[in-house]
Amino acid sequence: MSFTVTVLGCSGVYQTRDLAASGFLVEIGGGHWVVDMGGGTWRNLLSQIDYRDLDGVLLSHRHPDHTIDIWQLFHARHYGDVPESKIPLWAPQETIDRLVAFDDGVTGSFALMPVDETSEVKFGDARVTFARMQHPPVTFGLRIEHGDATLAYTADTGPEGDIEAIATGVNVFLCEATAQDADEPWWGHLCASDAARIAARCGVDRLVLTHLRPESDRELSLEEARRAAPGLSVELATDGMKLEVG
Ligand SMILES: [Zn+2]
Ligand SMILES: [Zn+2]
Repeated sequence: MSFTVTVLGCSGVYQTRDLAASGFLVEIGGGHWVVDMGGGTWRNLLSQIDYRDLDGVLLSHRHPDHTIDIWQLFHARHYGDVPESKIPLWAPQETIDRLVAFDDGVTGSFALMPVDETSEVKFGDARVTFARMQHPPVTFGLRIEHGDATLAYTADTGPEGDIEAIATGVNVFLCEATAQDADEPWWGHLCASDAARIAARCGVDRLVLTHLRPESDRELSLEEARRAAPGLSVELATDGMKLEVG
C-alpha cells in the first residue's frame, strides 16, 4: 500500500532561480493529487504528469507561496483542452473565499470543498486528515494514510501547531524549517532544529525538511536539525525528489 510523493517545490516564502515555492505531487494507485501550488510548481508538475490527469488539489492555506500557481492550472482547465468537468479543490474556507474573490471563474473548474480539523478527504482509497497549525491565516497540516504507509506535511506552522495529531509515527514527515537557530524568532514558523525535536517526539521514521528560507545556507539547516535530534534520519527536500512512502 505504498505511495509516492514528488516534491514540486520546497523553497519557503518565495521561489528562487533553482527552487519553486511549496508544492507536492501525490500519486496513489494510479491517481494524482497536488498539495499546495506555490510559484514554479506548475512547470514542475508538467514535467511529471499531464495536468489533465490531475484528480484534485489541496491547498493548506491562502499564502501566495502556497497558492499562486493554482491560477495556471485554472487557466489551463478553463481555456485549454479539458473536458467540461470539475476536480475537487480542498482548502480552508478562508482560502476558498480569497480564490473566489480574485476570480469567481474558479467555481467553473473546481468543486470547492472547505476543510477543517474534523474533515476526512479521500485521495483514491487513501485517507487524508487535518490538524490546525500555528500560522497567521487559517492553516491545516495534513496526514495521508494508505494502509500502513503514512506521510505528514505541516504546511507552515510555529511550534504550537497541533503537529503531533498528524505526525505521530509517520513514515515520512515533511516539516517546514523556515528559520535557523541564529535567526530572530519568526512567529508561525519553525527552525530546522525545532522540526527535528518535534520529529523525534513524534517518533517519525524519516524527516524531510522543506520551506527553507531562500537566502539561507541549506547545509546549515540540515546540520542544525541533525544536531538537535542525533540518530534521526534527516534530509533536505529538493525539487524533483521522489519520496516512496511505506
Ligand atoms: Zn509558506
Ligand atoms: Zn504561510
